[in-house]
Amino acid sequence: MQKTQGALPDPAAGSGVDDVADSELRLAPDGRWWPAVAALVRDLGRDPENPDARDLRRVVVIVPGMLYAPMLREALHDALGGDACIAPRVLTLDAWADVEPALVQKQRAELFQALRDSTWVRERFGSQAGALWALARDIAFLSDELTLAACGAAEAFEGRWRAAVQHNFSHRAAAAGDLQSQLVLALWRAGLSPELGAAHLRERLEQRARRAEGPLVWLAPQGAAPWQHAFCRAYSTSSRQPACLVVADPQALGDQRPWLLAAWPELTAPDAMAPPIAARARSLALTMQAPQSAVQRPQLQILRRDSLEEEAAAAAGWTVDRLRAGCRSIALVALDRLTARRVRALLDRVGILVADESGWKLSTTSAAAAVMRWIDLVISDFEHRDLLDWLRSPFTLACEDDKATIVESIGSALLEDGVHAGMPAVRTAVARRARAGAATATAAQRVIEQMVGLAHSWQASGSLGRFLGLLNSTFDQMGMRLALAADPVGRNVLTAVQQLHDQLIGSPLRLDLVEFRALLAEHFEELGSGSRDIDSPVVMTTLAGTRLRRFDAALLIGADADHLPGTRSSGGLLANSVRRELGLRTEADSVREQTLDLAGLLATAPAVAATWRCRRHDEPLPLSPLLDRLVLLTELAGLEPLVHGPIASWHRVPATVSLPRTPSAAGLLPQGISASACQDLIDCPYRFFGLRMLGLREIPHLRPKPDKRDFGLLLHAVLFEYHRTHRPDTQVAPVGMGAAARTDATPRFTPGAAHVQLRRVVDELFAPLLQQQPALIGYRQRLRTLLPGYVEWLRTSEQDGWRWQAGELMLRRPWALAGGGGLELQGRIDRIDVNAQGQRRILDYKARDVASLRKSQREPGEDVQLLFYGLLLDPPAQEAAYLSVQRPPDPRIPGRKVVNLVPAPAPFAEHVSALATRLGEDLARIAAGASLPANGAETICRRCELRSLCRRGFTAPKSKQRDDRAV
Ligand code: SF4
Repeated sequence: MQKTQGALPDPAAGSGVDDVADSELRLAPDGRWWPAVAALVRDLGRDPENPDARDLRRVVVIVPGMLYAPMLREALHDALGGDACIAPRVLTLDAWADVEPALVQKQRAELFQALRDSTWVRERFGSQAGALWALARDIAFLSDELTLAACGAAEAFEGRWRAAVQHNFSHRAAAAGDLQSQLVLALWRAGLSPELGAAHLRERLEQRARRAEGPLVWLAPQGAAPWQHAFCRAYSTSSRQPACLVVADPQALGDQRPWLLAAWPELTAPDAMAPPIAARARSLALTMQAPQSAVQRPQLQILRRDSLEEEAAAAAGWTVDRLRAGCRSIALVALDRLTARRVRALLDRVGILVADESGWKLSTTSAAAAVMRWIDLVISDFEHRDLLDWLRSPFTLACEDDKATIVESIGSALLEDGVHAGMPAVRTAVARRARAGAATATAAQRVIEQMVGLAHSWQASGSLGRFLGLLNSTFDQMGMRLALAADPVGRNVLTAVQQLHDQLIGSPLRLDLVEFRALLAEHFEELGSGSRDIDSPVVMTTLAGTRLRRFDAALLIGADADHLPGTRSSGGLLANSVRRELGLRTEADSVREQTLDLAGLLATAPAVAATWRCRRHDEPLPLSPLLDRLVLLTELAGLEPLVHGPIASWHRVPATVSLPRTPSAAGLLPQGISASACQDLIDCPYRFFGLRMLGLREIPHLRPKPDKRDFGLLLHAVLFEYHRTHRPDTQVAPVGMGAAARTDATPRFTPGAAHVQLRRVVDELFAPLLQQQPALIGYRQRLRTLLPGYVEWLRTSEQDGWRWQAGELMLRRPWALAGGGGLELQGRIDRIDVNAQGQRRILDYKARDVASLRKSQREPGEDVQLLFYGLLLDPPAQEAAYLSVQRPPDPRIPGRKVVNLVPAPAPFAEHVSALATRLGEDLARIAAGASLPANGAETICRRCELRSLCRRGFTAPKSKQRDDRAV
């Protein structure tokens, strides 16, 4: 039988215990719910022999979650007039049935194996491990639903299923879906073991029913499924004890709030055709205007905002206002989790901590990410981003005292060697750094060796148990267990892994690493982070989490059409129409459930607000259709509008534009000036200030692949090595030691031998590098193509009497400043050639095209690199040039036009002297405190790292311009 009870039962009249045997009791899910449930429990627990006794132990109350137990106890206390009692047994269904969670994972593993072995499944759903684990999860859920819906009559239920498929699909579609049905049916029938899933639950419930000694009250506020009714009937029949399902009654909810049912008539009549909203609004208006109407008005504010930041700020501001108004419990309903995270951050910033029970998935936490990153690291063969992410995680290497420097050392080693991935390359890079004597590199090398050793064990396929064992030893060896155990969420990660270990340790299922990763990811995805260490009046929760609870205020964060109602995937294995015919939950049920929760919240919380971001990027984003109906209804009924736009700011801050910067920093003049620093000073004084005086630098990043900088370095290295080993002019006096003279000891030049020697230098240089960076192979080929042209140029150069004298030469020269003080000019010269007359020529290798180099030398004093080198050399060089090395324009003539000399402006000595004067004056001015304006030319600014920092290109505010004119 069914009984509706919208009002508090009269304790004097009792709650009609005899009437509720195997019945459904309907209660208003508002403030009347708990008192009515308490009265029911009190009356059911009353001993007929001793009606005054306060012993309710016989009664079992099944609650949706243990969160509700204190509410029931408090209501019982009131229902008993404050007298003490022996409490009823209050449990969740799983706890009462004593179902072991261990079997869930076992069932999934078996399903995964079956699916992986099926060719049809791989063709239909793909063979990716993640997809197969998700499919195993969906089939397990669906099997549980089917087992419960079948109520023990599997044969009959199977027939109903086939009939439903035939009924809902055309003949062809039914035939197409038959294979899928066959598979799901086969897996369901195979999984009907009384040890697994819902079959296990059913068996336990039947045992409970047979052994029952007292009444049962089952709280199912969102409505009871047929199997729950069937169980309650069986319970009453076998035990002769009453069993009562208590469900929410939306009709009673609308007694004093007719606008709820006018907005959402489907709450009471899901399948009936409702009158048009205008008619419902007219009827509502009449009810509200009736004299002595006790109808409550909607206490809802919808805060419409344009952007995520505005929405989050509105939500945080509203929460602060409610706290100031004295609210002691505020629910923040995280419909849009992204915005909700931002709201929590804003509240944190003003010192309001939020108790989070919204069930963030464990997979979204940094603790779980550290575990997953380790597996990614092994799969990607130590890809540098995964490696650095893992190393930098706070959940790794907790046992290392100097973790920060170890990580920095590894990062630098990868950067220096340009290593992108590969365990051998990573090991070599770190070992090379250790051999070079870097202080922290030895510890870094030890860590990398340990990681590589462990990673090798991970790479082989194995049983589930083996992988779980490896995970535990990784936690121990890599200092993860210590760090995870010290963090509340980290402890949940350890527990989750331990659960998996306990459940699957004996599983025969063999997996490869990718499949194991997918299993772990799926496991973390299903678990909540469960961090509940914060006690706060502000609670972040879900819409379902507000059910049957009492809050002083509630805020729906992200009440747009994308998030309310939220969608819940039913796995796509069964069409909605078939699900409906089989009595399974459908999407419509999910929407109705959310509508009921929303109605319950509006009915119980004295103040409710919802934030609505009405735009996403450039697209309008509609309000939630549920709230939109309420807005339209209240508008048509002539009630106060619910939607509120942003309120104009109280404080108007005038817009100010900052001027381009012109600092002055005499005390920051550097101790040394290089050719590139000198170039910066000439290009733009502010650039010199930022890069050379403040020492600002962009953080170096590992480039995804070698680029022209690498090519330039390799070109320099090849030419230096060739000349150092094969073309040294041994009789030439060292640079800076006077004139040089060629002697007969100089090796004789032959183009054929030179080409062979150069080719050998290239190959020897690249051999180790290619192990580290295979992508360099293209540059090796490019360098090889340049060799004939270089040999040809060298032949001509030697015929002209020039010999290589020195390369990669670091030179320093003290420089006194007018007005006192001094600094050092510094530079590394690529190459110095000398001739028989003792004249010197400076050469700088360039892989740039000759036209742009010529252009740069057209205006003396603009590109000063060669002139600056001229300043360094003593005795001075007679000439200087860029040596441009480019691919041969015609591949059929590989020796032609590969090398071109672009000389510095002539006369060289005169321009060097002009630079000396200019540099001396500029540096002296800076030392005296001259300002350093940002005045680079557009061509310089385009590639300048300080762009926008210098504010070049911004206008001055009008007032400032006026002031400047007046001055
Ligand atoms: S962006 Fe231009 S003006 Fe600004 S610092 Fe760089 S070179 Fe100078």
